[in-house]
Amino acid sequence: MRIALLGLPTDRGSSYLRGAAGAPAAIRAALHCGSSNLYAENGIDVGPALVDAGDLALDGTAAEVDAITAGVDSVLAQGQGIVALGGDHAVTYPVVRSMAKHYPGLSILHFDAHPDLYDSYDGDRFSHASPFARIMEEGLAARLVQVGIRADTAELRAQAKRFGVETVGMDRLAELPGLLPCGPVYVSIDLDGLDPAYAPGVSHHEPGGLSTRQVLNAIQALEGPVIGGDIVELNPTRDVNGMTAMVAAKFVRELVGAMLR
Ligand code: MN
Ligand code: MN
Repeated sequence: MRIALLGLPTDRGSSYLRGAAGAPAAIRAALHCGSSNLYAENGIDVGPALVDAGDLALDGTAAEVDAITAGVDSVLAQGQGIVALGGDHAVTYPVVRSMAKHYPGLSILHFDAHPDLYDSYDGDRFSHASPFARIMEEGLAARLVQVGIRADTAELRAQAKRFGVETVGMDRLAELPGLLPCGPVYVSIDLDGLDPAYAPGVSHHEPGGLSTRQVLNAIQALEGPVIGGDIVELNPTRDVNGMTAMVAAKFVRELVGAMLR
C-alpha cells in the first residue's frame, strides 16, 4: 500500500496566531534531514511506501474547506492511504468528511489540549476550535476519543456530552488503554496535546500535557486498522531548534508504520 503525504498549508482557521501554514515544509524537512531514518519503531521501513502528494493550493478563504475534501478524495481515489500535514486543526473536518465516505463507521483517536467542539468560534463555524463539532453533527465518526484534554470550558463540556464524545483528560490517562477505539481508526494529532516542553512550536502553549512517548504508545497500541491521520498545529515561527518539527516527523513515521502493519 502507498501512503500519500498531503500538505495543507493553511492557518485560515487559527484564532490566536498565524504560522501553521508553514508547517508542511518544516515537517518534510525534518523527515528527510538525515539525522534519523525512515523506520517506524515496529521495524517497518516506511520510506518505500511514502508518496509525497505535495501541498494543496489553498487560497485563505472559506472555499478551502471544500478544496481540502476534494484533494483528499482524489488521493483516496488512487487507492492510496493518507497522512495529512496541517495547517491548523480546521483541516481535520474536511479531511474526515472525505475519509468517512470511504470508511463508513470509522472512529477517531484525537490528541489535543482542546476538544475543538465549539459550535462556532469568533463567528467562524470552520475555525480550528470547531472541527469536531462539524464531524459529530454530521455523524462522520462512530466514536470520538479525545486524549490530553486540559483546557475545557462549560460550553465545551456540554458539547462533548451532546455528541457522546469520550474525553480522556490528563486526569484519566490511566484509563486510555481500555478506551482505544477498535475497527477503522483515524488519528488526529494536534501537537499542543503534548506538553510545551516536548512541543514548543505551537500557537497555544497549554502546560501539563502529554509526553511524546505517551502519544507513541497509544498509536502503537491501536488494534486498527489505522486508515489515516493528520498532524496539525505545528507553528514553525514558535519552534525551538526545529524540535517540534522533528516530533511531527516522528509521528509521520509511526502513523505510516501503523497503517502498514
Ligand atoms: Mn486542536
Ligand atoms: Mn489544541
